[in-house]
Amino acid sequence: MMNFHIMTLFPEMVMEGLNTSILGRAIQNGCIAIDTVNIRDYTLDKHKKVDDYPYGGGAGMLMQAQPVYDAYQSIRKRTSAKKVRTVYVTPQGAVFNQKMAVEFAKEEELIILCGHYEGIDERVLEEIVTDYVSIGDYVLTGGELPAMVMIDAIARMVPGVLSNEESGETESFSDYLLEYPQYSRPEEWNGKKVPEVLLSGHHKNIEKWRLEQSLIRTRERRPDLYEKYLANHRQV
Ligand code: SAM
Repeated sequence: MMNFHIMTLFPEMVMEGLNTSILGRAIQNGCIAIDTVNIRDYTLDKHKKVDDYPYGGGAGMLMQAQPVYDAYQSIRKRTSAKKVRTVYVTPQGAVFNQKMAVEFAKEEELIILCGHYEGIDERVLEEIVTDYVSIGDYVLTGGELPAMVMIDAIARMVPGVLSNEESGETESFSDYLLEYPQYSRPEEWNGKKVPEVLLSGHHKNIEKWRLEQSLIRTRERRPDLYEKYLANHRQV
């Protein structure tokens, strides 16, 4: 069971995106729980304002420290764990990958802080954030999509979320390889036949073919990963 707490100005956006299909089922089954905290609910400003101009000038508005800190404290009061990893999703973080998804899935509680506008006052980040994570080298309008991307990838690694636990282990990025091509019925579509070996029922040959295809695909599409695979296997 893993509890995600998302600090955001747009809770509906996050919940609507995560409450369907496999994650919706995981929430129903009690494998994961997703709780959103609306940062705006914690502002002490009488007009419910949560942002202000950055000192020193520059474009845009910045989320202020106080509402973010109080929203964070409200989550901490509800969780019994002494330390809770708190991720700020930001283009200035380490780039998220499958290995990080597996690591985060070991936590019982995870707080994800979504920024908006030009970001968040640095002082509150220094107080509460344990991990700075980016989903890639581009800039989005807010942290809600990155939080959803991370939760989706992490939740898949929580035991019981995928119906067949195997499928989370033998897919792309395990051992630095991309997954092999896959085919379903019919045997022939648009003049294209399913590779003969997959119809043979010969498991050893199928495994061999799949590894070869994974290697070819990774070398072509992700030479950076292929190098890592080779380095990993040289050492063994
Ligand atoms: N001024 C910030 C900078 O240059 O680093 C960018 C702020 S961005 C417009 C607003 C918010 O979107 C950020 O606070 C962050 O939470 C989120 N965000 C944008 N791009 C992201 C990315 N690639 N990965 C993770 N979060 C991102």
